[in-house]
Parts: sequence; C-alpha cells; structure tokens
Amino acid sequence: MFDYIRLQIIYPCNAQCAWCATHRKNPWFGELYKEGVAERIHQFYIQVIRHFRPQQVFISGGEPLLYPEIARFLNDIKDNVVQINLFTSYQFSETARERIPFQAMPLDQILFCHTPIFFERHRWHELTGGFPFDLYVKNIRAMGKMSVQKRFKFIINHESLVEEIQNFQDLVEPDRSFEFGLKVINDQGGGLNADIISKSKALTNERVQSLDRLLSDAGWGKISYKIGSAAIMASLLGDGDVTRCTYRQQPTELRFALYRADAHKQILKYRYCPYFPSDFGYRFHIGRDMLDKLERNYYRGNFRDRCQDCRFLQYVNVA
Ligand code: SF4
Repeated sequence: MFDYIRLQIIYPCNAQCAWCATHRKNPWFGELYKEGVAERIHQFYIQVIRHFRPQQVFISGGEPLLYPEIARFLNDIKDNVVQINLFTSYQFSETARERIPFQAMPLDQILFCHTPIFFERHRWHELTGGFPFDLYVKNIRAMGKMSVQKRFKFIINHESLVEEIQNFQDLVEPDRSFEFGLKVINDQGGGLNADIISKSKALTNERVQSLDRLLSDAGWGKISYKIGSAAIMASLLGDGDVTRCTYRQQPTELRFALYRADAHKQILKYRYCPYFPSDFGYRFHIGRDMLDKLERNYYRGNFRDRCQDCRFLQYVNVA
C-alpha cells in the first residue's frame, strides 16, 4: 500500500548538528536502548515492513550505522523491501567506522544517504559543534570505496551550491557508486532554518528551472542526478494547489517518529508526507493498536485539513 516507509532507529548518533533537533534526544535514545525498549520499537518496524512490503524503506536515527544490531535488523527486513535507504551522518571515529559490520549487511539492496549541510570546512565546523571536517571527508572516502551505492543530496538553495559541489569533487573524488540529488529545502530541525529558506524562495525557484546549466557550471554536466523533493512536489510548484499533491491523492509514504516511550508503553507518531507541520501526527501505541489503524487514517483521517500549513509551500515560490 505505501511505497515508502520511513523509520527511526532508536540509537544515539555521534553528532551535534545545528540544523537537527534529534541529537538532543541522544541520552534518551541511549536509555531506551539499554532498557531493551528500543528493541521493541525496532521489532514493530519489522512487523510493519513485513505487512506493507514497501518498495523502499528509509532508515534514519540517531545513527543507524552505530546501532550494534543494525546488520540483523537489515537482514530481517530485506526480503520484504526492494531498496533500503540508510541515512548516515559520516560523523564517527575511524575506530567506530571499522567496527561497523558492513560485510554482514545486504549491501546490494542498500543505499547510504546523506545531505551535506555545507560542504565547506569553515561552515561545517560551525554547524557541527566542531566535528573534524577532515575526518568526515575521510569517512566518506573510505565508505566511498565500498561496493555499495551512496547518495549525496546537496541543498539547492545554498548560495554556495556550485562551490560545494566542486569541493566535493576535489576532496572525495566520487566514482560511479555515488549518485547525486538536490534537495529543495532543508526541512529538518523543526523549521530551524525556515527564515533563511523563505528568503531564498526566488533562488530555489530559479534553480529548479535551470538544473542542467547549474550542474554543468559545477562540472557535473555528465553525471545523472535526481532532484528529489523537487520532482515529487513538481505538481505544487506551479500554483500551490494542494489538491493535486501526490501525497494526498494516493497512499505514498508512511513515516514514523518516536513520540513517547518508556518500559511500559511506546507511542509513535505517524504521518503521510514529509511536509506536515511538525506538531501534526497520528499516534500509534505499540502493543495496543492494530496495524490497520495505519492505513485507516489515510482514508478516513482529517490530515488533509492541515495542508494549508504545508511546509513545502512556505519555502517555494507559488504564483
Ligand atoms: S502538507 Fe503539503 S506535501 Fe503534505 S499532503 Fe498536504 S499539500 Fe501534500
């Protein structure tokens, strides 16, 4: 029913990115992992994936690659999904990287995903609480040599986009196992960057129209790219008519986020698109609610009433 399922591995990351609110939950995630609560949530995800058999699963965290049981989790879902997109920050020590059990993972189904918030040393240090840029690049280069697909999505409304792409080419020297995407907006962090993003509407809109020239200027003219959210949201880019939105018209995406959890109860929030206001989400009580609740609200729930607050429309030009 849902082509895409997005879930969150409950295990701390190693990062402190300024644009992301999730790392503030690291102590909580650590506790939930130690108490075995995270495992109950991860088992629920496996149940959901086996039930819906989506085309693609998107796994964020925390940091999924540092989750000690990640290989087992991936093997438990691999027969019920075509592609597994696994988000990583590339922010870990070399020792931690060497401990990641890549060889036990179904690598032929996996794509490592990452959005460089700024691929520029100075801004990087500023925005990551000082994580060494050289180590970040070293991790990308080391994992770049593995025979697994990697996707890097650059943020289209950065003034410095062309320079960032050129930096990436010089420092990482990507081969054909890399694919590239462009993200229309950085929609993480509870609207942390909303003002900046709103101010760059005109630039975003212009770039969406001239991607070939932009990438050719950056020396990427021959590399294929996907424009990510710009493609799926193209129907809204014209006049902002929400009734034409793909996510409203047919079940496309089911995304989960942790809402409340302790040893007694675990409650997730779920939504059907990436752009709902962050306060919105239906609740699912693990162990109490039935799986059919997840699809029932798609048809009978009132989520479409909130589309006037669509975050995507706040960030792009509409006539
Ligand atoms: S909030 Fe926006 S992206 Fe989500 S369903 Fe509504 S119009 Fe579509």
